[in-house]
Amino acid sequence: MQTNKNYGALDVFRVIAAFLVVAIHTSPLTSFSAEADFFLTRVVARLAVPFFFLVTGYFVLGKQFAGRYPSPCLSSVSGYLRKILVMYGAAILIYIPIGIYAGHYKELSASALLRMLIFDGTFYHLWYFSALILGILLLCFLRRFLSARACTAAVFVLYVLGLLGDSYWGLIEHVPGISAAYEWCFQIFSYTRNGIFLAPLFLWMGARIAGQQIRPTDSRIIPAAGFALTLALMTAEGFLLRYFEWQRHDSMYLLLPVCAYFLYRLLLTGNIPSKQRLRAVSSWIYILHPALIVLLRGIAKPLHATTLLVDNSLIHYLIVCLLSAAAAYAVTAFLNHVCPPVNFYPMDRAWLEIDRNALKHNVSALRSLLPKTCELMPAIKADAYGHGAVPVAQELNRLGVDSFCVACISEGIELRKNGVQGEILILGYTHPKQFPLLRRYHLTQTVIDFPYALEMNRFGKKLKGHIAVDTGMHRLGERCDHMEHFIRLLSMKNLTITGAMTHLCSVDSNLPESREFTRQQAEAFYRVIKAWKKRGFTCPKIHLQSSYGVLNYPELAGDYARVGIALYGVHSAREDYDASSIQLKPVLSWKARVAVVKELLPGEGAGYGLTFTADSPMKIATLSVGYGDGLPRSLSSGVGSVLIRGQRAAIIGRICMDQTIVDVTEIPGIRAGDEAVLLGQSGSETITACDLAEQSGTITNEILSRLGARMPRIMI
Ligand SMILES: *Cc1c(COP(=O)(O)O)cnc(C)c1O
Repeated sequence: MQTNKNYGALDVFRVIAAFLVVAIHTSPLTSFSAEADFFLTRVVARLAVPFFFLVTGYFVLGKQFAGRYPSPCLSSVSGYLRKILVMYGAAILIYIPIGIYAGHYKELSASALLRMLIFDGTFYHLWYFSALILGILLLCFLRRFLSARACTAAVFVLYVLGLLGDSYWGLIEHVPGISAAYEWCFQIFSYTRNGIFLAPLFLWMGARIAGQQIRPTDSRIIPAAGFALTLALMTAEGFLLRYFEWQRHDSMYLLLPVCAYFLYRLLLTGNIPSKQRLRAVSSWIYILHPALIVLLRGIAKPLHATTLLVDNSLIHYLIVCLLSAAAAYAVTAFLNHVCPPVNFYPMDRAWLEIDRNALKHNVSALRSLLPKTCELMPAIKADAYGHGAVPVAQELNRLGVDSFCVACISEGIELRKNGVQGEILILGYTHPKQFPLLRRYHLTQTVIDFPYALEMNRFGKKLKGHIAVDTGMHRLGERCDHMEHFIRLLSMKNLTITGAMTHLCSVDSNLPESREFTRQQAEAFYRVIKAWKKRGFTCPKIHLQSSYGVLNYPELAGDYARVGIALYGVHSAREDYDASSIQLKPVLSWKARVAVVKELLPGEGAGYGLTFTADSPMKIATLSVGYGDGLPRSLSSGVGSVLIRGQRAAIIGRICMDQTIVDVTEIPGIRAGDEAVLLGQSGSETITACDLAEQSGTITNEILSRLGARMPRIMI
């Protein structure tokens, strides 16, 4: 995720944090001073694990997770959870022999095993993985029901409860009811430093920080000063607690979250290129170091070097660090060799590539046409015109877009289920039986006419709506001359009107009569808005622009612009390109695999109905894409073509549902498995959506919105 940024400082600190964990388990300074060792291992090093949780919250949960709307988000983290489970499983296996040797599993009951797996870890450092998994699950659960603010409160309360069972044990140790309750809990888990009390706060903080848009160029002074100050205070806190002997355990401090927060902010400003490799290395140092501690002791004895290698705490620590780093490096090298990281290699029969940078470019280009007060409200209906509504909306969220429109309620729900933030307006009809879903998923419904408003009001609970005004398209909307209806609409008890809209139906043409009609539509719309104001109703947000409105009539502005086709970098038809004042970049490429290459002898036919016959010997290829994927069947028999190895190959015979045959006689070296480009670039050749639209007698909007759901959308 977000690999284009410079996260090198975070990556480097991961390794430092792993070495701090090694310090906790080896106490490097005990040979010199108990206080110094306490400071290093019980204060400073306590930043390490919270830091790891912050990283996970930041990158895995992200700002979608911590945004304003509750989101059922388990699906969005399931991939990550699977990865962590595999790692945890591997770590458990590695430590079984050592655990047996150390006598950990002597009297292993089912409940003790569960306690180990869920809370304490099967070896002393493995509690981290269970805490990570449990923490994420718990947060997902909280997030389902709680607003962001309530969630913050909940994780904070959990942390404080954890503190009382950890460093602040002395406070409650002698309070009868409470300490008994804790003692009872300690039969379930040994420490409060786990996935319930410790992990959720830091995971949540990480996700919140992801929403703060911190740039590498931001000032370092505040986070640096904040870190130094809070670290000093946390040191004081640690030594005081130690002096009073309050600590049952010493993992959690009151100042730890604040200190970790400043540290994380500071690292985010450390403009260093990301170092992917260090991420895996730090994890393996964490996993492997206890094994190397055991190994070092085992080796030292027969070598009669115990005094040097084990008894001197600092040398012992440094050697364990060195061995762990070497082992971690070796393991990651081995794993990279066995299963090389898959960069970007689609293995599908056909797929769509979504160009993140092009999308970003189009967003800025469209914003530049509009006044500052007008925000984009992208139309991501019909699976974002075939581009994949969820990835597109998530990317737009990242670009600061937080209003969307979709065609129907199921589209809105899908976005919410994937954590998309901001207002989502449903442009079309929603059955009254589905009104409860509007509320559950925080969706805004278009009030499509007056009778529909009555229906919405009858629902009995508040519904958010944007009023559609029909100014001449005569599709949806209440007629603009029914002024008394609009007035009544605004005073309906259960309707919260937050916007008003109209749709301009002739903006794609610059003919004088079209311009005149558009002007009349805009005027009629603003008449309605004015009448509202006159009667003292607060004027809601208004919007009347679609892509061509923005391109041809930027002065009509409004509060939102419902841009669709232009956002995807495409015009509806070719002639509009020259007229346009901004350069848009197509976001989508469409590709498919060559399944088979074969010879065709003169006189032989190909495809259904054998509509194609070879005149001379030729080479043909079957592509794994067809009209079932959205390739118009009207491109059959030489009307359309594809690009393979930078060359054009004409479609021959009839396009099938799942396959298409092309003529590749002139393409040397073509092989099964090659990429065929249906839309996009190959070498110096390009096929645009306009080409496909023209060849099949339609507009680009139809071509794109019909792209089949069975093809994966891949962000690049
Ligand atoms: C689809 C749609 C849009 C977006 O149209 P584009 O021409 O693709 O920008 C805007 N408003 C309404 C009401 C729509 O249905």
